[in-house]
Amino acid sequence: MDQNHVNVRAAAPLKSQLSNCMQCVYLGLGANLNSPKEQLDNAVCALKKLPHCEFISVSHYYASKPMGPQDQPDYVNAVACIKTALEPEQLLDLTQAIELEHGRVRKAERWGPRTLDIDTLLFGQQVINTQRLTVPHYGLCEREFVVYPLLELAPELILPSGIALKTIAQDLPLNDLQQLPL
Ligand code: ATP
Ligand code: MG
Ligand code: MG
Repeated sequence: MDQNHVNVRAAAPLKSQLSNCMQCVYLGLGANLNSPKEQLDNAVCALKKLPHCEFISVSHYYASKPMGPQDQPDYVNAVACIKTALEPEQLLDLTQAIELEHGRVRKAERWGPRTLDIDTLLFGQQVINTQRLTVPHYGLCEREFVVYPLLELAPELILPSGIALKTIAQDLPLNDLQQLPL
């Protein structure tokens, strides 16, 4: 048997083992400063370059009203789907680094204006409660700017609680959420 033949046969199972252990992760993206649409475009570019990750898709962008303080511009939100072989907190390190690279300044005020927010909404079917990470994201089911873009990417999604995402959407008002043209 020639050497190349052996290598190809050995590599194939390894590759499929790696893709088997990759988790499907949904990330919530939001911005309301410094050309929010561009911020989201840049965030998507950065997600496409993440190590040990495969970019799968991004929803339409949506215009939404701010939560909390109202004296700030409207938001642009979206949900992205990636597959990753990283651990949840390793991925959080990288998404927080992307936020900082895009000029995010963390302030004491909660839900204040920001250039870019990337939240881990779902990490496979994992339930995580550590000091740094709560997954599913605690606001997932109440935020129309998360539920509707997520529904676009995963209409049949069942949350780790066993509840279907579309059931949550049935009772969730749109609150002026508007899908933006591509
Ligand atoms: P909200 O979480 O209500 O959407 P926010 O996104 O503005 O508010 P941040 O300032 O981005 O909040 O994050 C505050 C902290 O939340 C982070 O330091 C991070 O450790 C923690 N955190 C907990 N769970 C998550 C999660 N699922 N995704 C991202 N950050 C999380
Ligand atoms: Mg957030
Ligand atoms: Mg956040």
